[in-house]
Amino acid sequence: MKPLKSRTLNIMGYKWKLIVSRKPPPFKEPPDKLVISPDTHHGYCDRVGNQIWICNNDTVEHQYSTFIHELIHAIETINDIKLSEHKVLIFEAGLFQVLHANKIKLY
Ligand SMILES: [Zn+2]
Repeated sequence: MKPLKSRTLNIMGYKWKLIVSRKPPPFKEPPDKLVISPDTHHGYCDRVGNQIWICNNDTVEHQYSTFIHELIHAIETINDIKLSEHKVLIFEAGLFQVLHANKIKLY
């Protein structure tokens, strides 16, 4: 697996920023509204600033799993739907397991 890198993402036609760094950047979303990964803050989805932060101090596998998690939050935002955090965690675990166990690469 290649390490995740900061870049611009097209998520369902919208421009988002993926930031992979040790510390989170400033967010536009109020702190009490931020969607925070429950596992001690390894990622954020800033729904106002259209940016996803992934902590690069984790294993690459953990970074990808967190990326899937935050991506689900971004997709929720874009489609104006709300999944419980429990459901997001189930989708994260399921999608990551299938992609990882079967070595699925889109490119
Ligand atoms: Zn979450």
